[in-house]
Amino acid sequence: MKAGATKAASNFTGGACPCGGYAAPDVSPSTGTVGRSAVASVVGSVAPPRAAPAAKAARPKPAIAYPDCCRRFIEEGQIPTNAEQLMRSRYTAYVLERFDYLRDTWDPATCPADLGSEAGPQWLGLEVRTHHQDDARHATVEFVARYKVNGRAHRLHEVSRFTRADDGRWRYVAGTVSDS
Ligand SMILES: [Zn+2]
Repeated sequence: MKAGATKAASNFTGGACPCGGYAAPDVSPSTGTVGRSAVASVVGSVAPPRAAPAAKAARPKPAIAYPDCCRRFIEEGQIPTNAEQLMRSRYTAYVLERFDYLRDTWDPATCPADLGSEAGPQWLGLEVRTHHQDDARHATVEFVARYKVNGRAHRLHEVSRFTRADDGRWRYVAGTVSDS
C-alpha cells in the first residue's frame, strides 16, 4: 500500500473535490448540513439536476472543496441520500484510493474480492450525465470518467446501477460500459 498512498497524494492536491462537486445539494435535515450553505451559495438556485443545456454551458462549474463535498461520506460516516451522491463519493474514493469506502458502498454480491489489489489509473475527472431513481430501491447514474494509463488518456462511459438495501444505504451493484 506504500505505492498507493504516494499515488493518491499526487492525485489529490487538496483543492476542488475530485468528483467535481455535487451541483444539486440534497442533504436531508436529519443527516446534517455540513457544507450545505457553501454549496448553495456557489450554485445559486439551479434546483433541478437536469438544468437546461444552455444554462449549464453558460455557467462555469463552481469548484467545491473536498471538505465541503465528499469528505462527509468518506471520512465522517454520513450516508449519501441518493445514488448520485454515492456515485460521486465513490469516484472520489477511487481517486483517494479509499478501498474501505468502496467496499462498504458496494453490493456484497458483486464486490470483487481483490478490490484495490492492482494499481489503479490516474483519474482526471468526472462528469455525471443523468441520475434516475426508478423507485425507492433502484437507481441508475450515467457518467463519463476520464483517466490516464501509462500517459495515455481514456474515458469510461458507464451506466451504473445502484440499490438501496433494508439499512437505507445506497450501494453500487454493477455497470454497463458504453463505447460511445
Ligand atoms: Zn465530491
